[in-house]
Amino acid sequence: MDAIILLGGPGAGKGTLAASLKKDIGCLHISTGEMLRAVIQSDCEIGQAARACMESGDLVPDALILDLIQSRISREPDDARFLFDGFPRTIQQAEGLQDLLSQLNGKISYVLNLVVAPEVLLPRLCGRRTCKTCGAVYHITHRPPKIDGVCDVDGGELFQRTDDREKTILNRIEVYKKQTAPLIDYYRTQGVLYDIDASLSPAENVAIARDILLN
Ligand code: ADP
Ligand code: AMP
Repeated sequence: MDAIILLGGPGAGKGTLAASLKKDIGCLHISTGEMLRAVIQSDCEIGQAARACMESGDLVPDALILDLIQSRISREPDDARFLFDGFPRTIQQAEGLQDLLSQLNGKISYVLNLVVAPEVLLPRLCGRRTCKTCGAVYHITHRPPKIDGVCDVDGGELFQRTDDREKTILNRIEVYKKQTAPLIDYYRTQGVLYDIDASLSPAENVAIARDILLN
C-alpha cells in the first residue's frame, strides 16, 4: 500500500490536480471533503456534526476523519495506491495515517505541496463551480464550462459550494495556516515533501507533478 498526499491551502488546486493525476498514474483519489459531503447527504448523526464544522470553515474532528479513512482504505487490496486530497490536515491526522499505513505494511511515498500566495486563494474559491452529479471542478474565469452553469462532462448542473463564500473562505485560510501548514515541516523532515509552484496553470502543475511521481 502506497500513499501520495496533496497538501495545500483551500483553493490551491488539489482537486483539480488529483482529477488529472488519477487518470495518468492509476491511483485511487480520496478526497475527505468529498467523503464528508456524501455523509452529509445521507443525513445521519455523523453528517450533522460534520455539517456545522464545514459550514463555518472549521475542521471536522480528527477521530471522525480517521474512522472514515480507516474504513475506506481497509477495503482495498495490499497493492493499492492512494492519492489523498485534503487529508491529512492536522499533525494528529498525519500520525493516525502513519499508524494505519504501518498496520497495512504501507508507506507515504510522496507529499506534493502546492505552494500559492494566500491572496490567490480567495478569487479561486469565490469563482469555483462544481458539478452536482460528477463533482468536476470549474472556475468562472480560469476554467469556464462551454455552456454557462452546465458541466462539460455529463451535462450536470454546476453549483457554488456553501463554504465557498468570502467569510467562510477567510476562516478556512486561517485554519489552514494554524492547523495544516505545520505538516509542511513534518513531511519535509521525513524527506518525502516536494514543493510545486501552484500559481502556474493546471496543465503546468500536472506536468510538474507527473515528472516528480514518474521519475
Ligand atoms: P482545492 O481542491 O485545493 O480546494 P480546486 O482544485 O478545487 O482546489 O481549485 C479551486 C479553484 O481554482 C477551482 O475553481 C479551479 O478551477 C481553480 N484552479 C485550480 N487550479 C488552478 C490553477 N493552477 N490556476 C488557476 N485556477 C485554478
Ligand atoms: P475540501 O473539500 O477539502 O475543501 O474540504 C471542505 C471542508 O471539509 C473543510 O473546510 C473541512 O471542514 C472539512 N474537511 C475536509 N477534509 C478534512 C480533514 N482531513 N480534516 C478535517 N476536516 C476536513
